[in-house]
Amino acid sequence: MTGARVGSALTDEQQAVRDLVAEFAAEEVRPTAAEADETETFPEDVWDELAELGLTGLTVPEEYGGFGADETTYAVVNEALAHGSLAVATALSVHCLATSCIAEFGTDEQREAWLPEMAETGRPVGMFCLSEPHAGSNPAEMSTTATYDPETDEYALNGEKQWITNGNRGGVAIVFAKVDDPDREPDDDAITQFLVPADTDGFEVGKKEEKLGLRASDTTGISFDGCRVPAENRLTEPGKGLSAAFRTLTEGRIGIAAQAVGVAQAALDEAKSYATEREQFDRPIADIQTIRHKLAEMATDVSAARLLVREACRQAEAGEDYRVAASKAKYRASEAAMSVTNEAVQIHGGYGYTTEFDVERLYRDAKITEIYEGTTEIQKTIIARGVFGE
Ligand SMILES: Cc1cc2nc3c(=O)[nH]c(=O)nc-3n(C[C@H](O)[C@H](O)[C@H](O)COP(=O)(O)OP(=O)(O)OC[C@H]3O[C@@H](n4cnc5c(N)ncnc54)[C@H](O)[C@@H]3O)c2cc1C
Repeated sequence: MTGARVGSALTDEQQAVRDLVAEFAAEEVRPTAAEADETETFPEDVWDELAELGLTGLTVPEEYGGFGADETTYAVVNEALAHGSLAVATALSVHCLATSCIAEFGTDEQREAWLPEMAETGRPVGMFCLSEPHAGSNPAEMSTTATYDPETDEYALNGEKQWITNGNRGGVAIVFAKVDDPDREPDDDAITQFLVPADTDGFEVGKKEEKLGLRASDTTGISFDGCRVPAENRLTEPGKGLSAAFRTLTEGRIGIAAQAVGVAQAALDEAKSYATEREQFDRPIADIQTIRHKLAEMATDVSAARLLVREACRQAEAGEDYRVAASKAKYRASEAAMSVTNEAVQIHGGYGYTTEFDVERLYRDAKITEIYEGTTEIQKTIIARGVFGE
């Protein structure tokens, strides 16, 4: 990235990318969001357009045909896209988790084999399979195993993953598993990650979850029943998988925080425009001090959250340890998304409680930002460690 940058201001190039994605989100994504939510259908045509814009290669290095985005660009794209649809932004950010794993932990051969197609066409769509029915906040408790077969030089995966975004979209999964070494019991020290195409025998997509919000985003269980993958599909050494997952999730957390800002900004924009049009007591409700104060608080929450996101990006780009900053951004931005969408519904009165207005969907969507890629409670645990210098 080139161009001067002062404080939290964007460079000319970052601003240009932000404007491009904001225009795309307003014209192509937002108009599809209500129907996609209602029918619980992911808009694949929007995905193809994202690929044409080069966004499916957002975090893929340029040498593999990607965008090679810095953290700030990654954040502004996520914010702008989530302003149009959190479901679409979530699908893209999970695809980016997968491409980041390959870019960061893969061999040159693995990068060559997967990244150019994933960047240029957005296919295969990436999945990130860490969570399990009994292992969410503590993924070290996972029970999926990978048993090595020296005769075929393959691993056989067995186990069950849960809440997998893009699960039904037929792509490629980054699967975390404990290597079941016959010489030792499976343990945390044996976690590694594998690249598993969805059409591999024994890769079974489970039930699609029916959710409160984010309904256009596909969330499924995935089970592995003797699913055999060649050893060359292993991404990290056994024992390095969990720290790799945490590293990838720290980067991802900035994206989720930025998405939360995008949802909050969308709700603020809707509330402002509704307050200007809606009249009660012979004047627009925007002239009522109580409503003006609500909008002032909402605007302040959005700006504060955005600044925390930018600070986390700054630390990441400066090569600093940005784990605490990423957690602060996710914690505060998701809280802002919740409170701002809540007030946006309130400003819409009874109409805000109906599907006729976007704020109803934004309110339901906002909740997930407090849960996935580490709950608010887990973010506070990380922040508290920072407070005590642990
Ligand atoms: C729509 C959606 C999409 C998702 N996409 C993916 C995906 O693509 N890939 C993937 O791997 N996962 C995904 N997830 C899973 C998500 O990351 C987990 O749901 C999340 O990490 C929480 O795990 P859990 O649901 O098992 O809750 P639990 O870990 O059971 O937590 C339950 C409650 O206990 C609290 N809690 C737990 N431990 C502690 C602690 N030590 N201190 C304080 N509080 C604690 C939690 O904060 C929470 O409030 C997705 C989830 C959803 C809902």
